[in-house]
Amino acid sequence: MMELQPKTPTIQGAAEMFIGNVYFDVLAKGDDMRVNIVRFTPGARTAWHSHARGQTLHVTEGVGRIQARGGEVIEIRPGDTIYTPPGEWHWHGASPDDFMAHLAMWEGGASVIDEPESTWGEQVTDGEYNAL
Ligand code: MN
Repeated sequence: MMELQPKTPTIQGAAEMFIGNVYFDVLAKGDDMRVNIVRFTPGARTAWHSHARGQTLHVTEGVGRIQARGGEVIEIRPGDTIYTPPGEWHWHGASPDDFMAHLAMWEGGASVIDEPESTWGEQVTDGEYNAL
């Protein structure tokens, strides 16, 4: 039956995983499906990380940047959808002068029992971030 779900508290991203201020709301946390909306302040970005079952991002607001390990830094804008395959290291964040918000969708929980849903590594340096 249809259910208007209670709003979950906005959570600030942990300093080990993000540079700058990042906030996320959990929209869905099923047995195997995760959906968050993630909001980055200007200059904020994730650390390098990978997802065991891949991840789809959909930009809803602002201007952002994303890079896969070994690839170019790409500018992303509202309406863009980016798929990162399982195990590929990458980062995503806002541009220096704009907020950026994206939906993040990935598999976790029951579908990922043999490894973490996401694996986190080193922070993205200013040199990497600014190599647009
Ligand atoms: Mn990711």
